[in-house]
Amino acid sequence: MKITVWNEHIHERKNPEVQEIYPEGIHRALVKGLEPLLENAEFRTATLAEEDHGLKGEDLDSTDVLLWWGHLAHDQVSDEVLERVHNRVLHGMGLIVLHSAHLSRVFRRLMGTSCNLRWREADDRELLWTVNPQHPIAAGVEFPIELERHEMYGEFFDIPQPDELVFVSSFSGGEVFRSGCCFQRGKGRVFYFSPGHETYPVYRHPDVLKVLSNAVRWACQPEISKIETATSPNAPTDWWR
Ligand code: ZN
Repeated sequence: MKITVWNEHIHERKNPEVQEIYPEGIHRALVKGLEPLLENAEFRTATLAEEDHGLKGEDLDSTDVLLWWGHLAHDQVSDEVLERVHNRVLHGMGLIVLHSAHLSRVFRRLMGTSCNLRWREADDRELLWTVNPQHPIAAGVEFPIELERHEMYGEFFDIPQPDELVFVSSFSGGEVFRSGCCFQRGKGRVFYFSPGHETYPVYRHPDVLKVLSNAVRWACQPEISKIETATSPNAPTDWWR
């Protein structure tokens, strides 16, 4: 399994509070947390500031699953990289969209809706309830997962009906949220998972890492995704060949 963890990597460099939680950056924290859970995986990281945001054609062609964390700089992701990532998903690359990346260009493109939601930063307690215990992403996950303090993300979440819903969150303020949603787009599998606000150490929570490792395995389809590459011409219209 070849995994690329993409992070815009801005909060961790600018905000001392976030720096303290993720001194290595969210991308490296995710690699560190996932490595022991995914023995056969090869990890690389990529960030916004790199040339082509670290996502050149050959980088994506050799990626089976891409994890995406972004918040402040969605609009700085270039058209070219957006098209490339979108094409690769349609050709079978897995995509795991994390937390505030619900507003990333690539997720909105894949969903075709605004992907807006309600939110509040007030140290809410979040409980993630498994609503699909047979799903591979829920395998071995105790529920509910408790995040003692987290940002509230609430409904209405403007996404198309997920193909499969795996987790629903409730918050101490009373709100609920579809926090783990699966979508098929072209040949690719897409999983949106909402935990991961930058001022809480969510990506060190063992249950959160367990879910993410399951999601990587679920989204990984190398036998499909290697058939074609991001450099294929006009990929969206020829993906079924
Ligand atoms: Zn947030």
